[in-house]
Amino acid sequence: MECISVFDMLKIGIGPSSSHTLGPWRAAERWIQELKAKNRFEKVEKITVDLYGSLSLTGKGHATDYAVLLGLSGADPEHVPVDNIDKIIATIKSSNTLNFNNEKTLPFHTKEDIIFNRKFLPFHANGISFSALINGRNYKSTYYSIGGGFVVQEERKVSKANKIIFYCTFPYPVSYGEELLKFCNQLSLPISGVVLENEKSIRDIDSVDFELKRIWNTMLECMYTGCHTEGNLPGGLNVRRRAFDMHKNLIGEHTYENPQEWLETIRKTEVKFRQILKWVSCFALAVNEVNASLGRVVTAPTNGSAGVIPSVLMYYLVIENHEADFEHIKKFLLVAGEIGSIFKKGATISAAMGGCQAEIGVSSAMAAGALCELLGGTPEQVLVAAEIAMEHHLGLTCDPIGGLVQIPCIERNSMGAIKAINAAELALDTDPKNVKVPLDKVVNTMWETAKDMNTKYKETSEGGLAIGVNMADC
Ligand code: SF4
Repeated sequence: MECISVFDMLKIGIGPSSSHTLGPWRAAERWIQELKAKNRFEKVEKITVDLYGSLSLTGKGHATDYAVLLGLSGADPEHVPVDNIDKIIATIKSSNTLNFNNEKTLPFHTKEDIIFNRKFLPFHANGISFSALINGRNYKSTYYSIGGGFVVQEERKVSKANKIIFYCTFPYPVSYGEELLKFCNQLSLPISGVVLENEKSIRDIDSVDFELKRIWNTMLECMYTGCHTEGNLPGGLNVRRRAFDMHKNLIGEHTYENPQEWLETIRKTEVKFRQILKWVSCFALAVNEVNASLGRVVTAPTNGSAGVIPSVLMYYLVIENHEADFEHIKKFLLVAGEIGSIFKKGATISAAMGGCQAEIGVSSAMAAGALCELLGGTPEQVLVAAEIAMEHHLGLTCDPIGGLVQIPCIERNSMGAIKAINAAELALDTDPKNVKVPLDKVVNTMWETAKDMNTKYKETSEGGLAIGVNMADC
């Protein structure tokens, strides 16, 4: 059984895409570690990179080439200053050299040494191969970015029956919703309690709290940045940032100095009924505008869908419960992470495998379940909330215009957030005994739908809006 921590589902990184930016970035880092472990790193004379399938088809718009360059340069996505990114890329391009892992200079021509192949590799739509020239011999390693920043190497995927083998050491291992409910009953704990017990088996409670605070602070900072940055997004579509104006109208004349003060200010502001949806949408748009401009976000469970969870959590903090503190935030993130992991194990969180239902659909289910627990839902109702949210995203395709994570992606986060809130409310008024479609059924249905979905709707920019509206129209 795959052992997925909350910190695997919620990761700090750089936009615009977890599978096309964070994953390839991490793959480059993994390759460097592999070269070092085999004592080859010092001997490398030249490197080349091959992108396959979806990584190639939407790689330009998703900044896959930039992510690879940053990973090969030794920059860390969690910590590299966002302002340094352009400089690192510009230096590589102008010098035709790359400072490999920030340790040795190699010749590197971005146009020739990153090869975009339309071909799909058989195991997964997001394939990436790195080649190192050493003493006239080429050493090639292939990785797959399987969604949400997760990366697997080729040799692992061919273990038994083409299945990846995982070992789980959690005391309460969960693959299905039913198993999770069983542990909740056995331990008399809410879902967040069971998840916390699992996390505590791999790190101490102080580390759990420290990391969750770091994740929440990054989310808050991201919303703050998005709400206070105006102008157009990069990439050529000339999409105007909307969170800035929306936020200006909502916040009025209030003043504050930093993200925390901003949050407290909004909590003290009287929010009219018809402004609730606007606030939630504004938070979601803000995150995904930051994401689209290669800013720092929390992958939740992917970058394209990074706005849903923070905006629903903000809804709880600024609308539902003004007394809420870190313990509430912690519960929310623990539940959200666990629901995401159930989708990852039973279906996919990769749009290249399952379309947008795997991104916005999963993030909406994660947020719905998490909100439901905070609003007093039983574990059964939490799973009902997650199920409702996904049920109404089934079949959602991925067709980003120009391969950029902008249209429909940014708005889609606000829609996913609103559906999550509605799903949580519906679940609270539902007797789980009367539910016809349990969560495990919808996870399976999502996966079956993913397999049936035409490839052109799976993050290739070869169908749907991406074809109906081309760059010139914009
Ligand atoms: S359409 Fe959905 S899945 Fe596709 S890139 Fe946009 S947010 Fe991600």
